[in-house]
Amino acid sequence: MRKLEPGRLVVATHNAGKLAEMVDLLAPHGFSLSSAAELGLPEPEETGETFEANAILKAVAAAGAAGIPALADDSGLAVDALDGKPGIHSARWAGSDRDFARAMRNVEELLQQTGAKTPQARTARFVSVLAIAWPDGHTETVRGEVEGTLVWPPRGEQGFGYDPMFLPEGHSRTFGEMSAAEKHGGRPGTDAPPLSHRSRAFATLVETCLAR
Ligand code: IMP
Repeated sequence: MRKLEPGRLVVATHNAGKLAEMVDLLAPHGFSLSSAAELGLPEPEETGETFEANAILKAVAAAGAAGIPALADDSGLAVDALDGKPGIHSARWAGSDRDFARAMRNVEELLQQTGAKTPQARTARFVSVLAIAWPDGHTETVRGEVEGTLVWPPRGEQGFGYDPMFLPEGHSRTFGEMSAAEKHGGRPGTDAPPLSHRSRAFATLVETCLAR
């Protein structure tokens, strides 16, 4: 796997929640980060059919436009009883006004229609795929996942997106009830292993792709 040298890096996201998480997760590794929004880069259409394809197309577009390496993430919630939906369309389910209360209601209604009432019938996972693209077109990807069950009604005001209905396996509070530090886990100075899909993907990225 090609190593990423510390230096300037563009984070190819226009999502403020994800940007804040990536800045947090990358801060200890010596990168000077700009976001695609700050650099005025256009947001490419996510035409891929997998998390990997979409992460790569966002990273490649940003690296090409900015002329420096770019990091992109494509992520979403995959619900087993809904055959993996909303999956790569997780953001789209919230509509153009990014109304996640509605997106969560939509998931819940579909779960009710399938008769999924017990926690075992309401399993889901968050998936995060990180792609790094270099200006020469080379790309690398890593994937992180966290398993859990979906609760109703949603609980907690923290995090973003589907966090309030996601109860990670082995925990009694939803991601919406956790501080960012708890949601990610594995921070310097704590014994906790990485918890969120994104911090798990980052742990793999650090392990395999960041130069030491
Ligand atoms: P995309 O990766 O920009 O296509 O959007 C992924 C979408 O998945 C987000 O807008 C959220 O709806 C959802 N999602 C991804 N990661 C998380 C998370 O950590 N918490 C809650 N929702 C998430």
